[in-house]
Amino acid sequence: MNTQVKNLIDDLNSGKKLSKENYEYILSNYDKEDFEYIKNLAQSIAIEKFGKDIYFRGIVEFSNICKNDCLYCGIRRSNSNVERYRLTKEQILECCEEGYEFGYRTFVLQSGEDGYFSDEVILDVVKSIREKFPDCAITLSIGERTRKCYEDLFNAGANRFLLRHEAANKALYEKIHPSFQSYEERFRCLKDLKEIGYQVGAGMMVGVPYQTNSDLAEDLYFLQEFNPHMVGIGPFIPHKDTPFRDEKAGSVELSLICLSIVRIMLPNVLLPSTTALGSIEAKGRQEGVLHGCNVVMPNLSPMSVRKKYLLYDNKAGIENDAKTSIEILRKQMEDIGYNVVVTRGDYKK
Ligand code: SAM
Repeated sequence: MNTQVKNLIDDLNSGKKLSKENYEYILSNYDKEDFEYIKNLAQSIAIEKFGKDIYFRGIVEFSNICKNDCLYCGIRRSNSNVERYRLTKEQILECCEEGYEFGYRTFVLQSGEDGYFSDEVILDVVKSIREKFPDCAITLSIGERTRKCYEDLFNAGANRFLLRHEAANKALYEKIHPSFQSYEERFRCLKDLKEIGYQVGAGMMVGVPYQTNSDLAEDLYFLQEFNPHMVGIGPFIPHKDTPFRDEKAGSVELSLICLSIVRIMLPNVLLPSTTALGSIEAKGRQEGVLHGCNVVMPNLSPMSVRKKYLLYDNKAGIENDAKTSIEILRKQMEDIGYNVVVTRGDYKK
């Protein structure tokens, strides 16, 4: 065991803030025993905060049309091999209805940045869901919008917003995005969302091309300072029709240690065990939970579109309908001694 790694983790656990250099030291110097120590600590903090309860959120991927061109993403606008789709408001509501029957009390609406869903159109969708499901949380993951739009959506009943920061290091951000996508704008959005009062989720991929431990340390440092309510971290997985098609996937181990560090850093954070983790390794989602995650997000999208919302190759769960997806995940959680709970699962201080 590297005692300096252990000491830094113990400092973090006692509420001290770490420097970017400290995080980089941990990521570059941990050994097997440190890895286990960090895992066990993160797991026990999650159990102390949430018991063995796992919150389920139903994701509706309502459009794969995107004006952006993120180099890593399978639904980037330059990918002409994607069969594009968008769901109607009625179809989105049907997905929520089905999800409600299965016990979901949080709906996550995710999409590419699709111009059809103007501020007015998306506002109407949120209002309708809010009216129909007054007891449910509405989470949006629809990318960058103006502050006014975020305010209107919040006032219409949206509660949470997921917008991964993707890379805290500006040079890295600019290497994995085209020049028309602005680093400053991404962080402006995150700041606005938090000020408006959303429960906000930030996060990043692990192992995206060009990323170093120093970059990842900067991500962890950013998360510490920004103090989001939710954090999404998963391995980068290449997609065959993107410029990163021949790049290596991110490491599961590094993803898991980042998740554990985030749990220790932000003990109350809502931390999903991501689909990417479950896609790259059969037991990935269970491993995520054992490393401190407390949220799982099964897919509620209609079967007819599931195979079209592919951010990366070999995405887990695209063959299963909504009911089967839940049953599989419920069983996976039960196998490791955790229970799926039917509540909104809001952030608690
Ligand atoms: N358009 C919205 C946005 O930008 O926040 C939401 C959809 S976006 C496709 C959701 C997330 O997928 C991104 O934040 C990114 O981190 C992740 N993602 C995209 N391509 C990926 C890949 N190849 N491997 C792993 N995760 C990926």
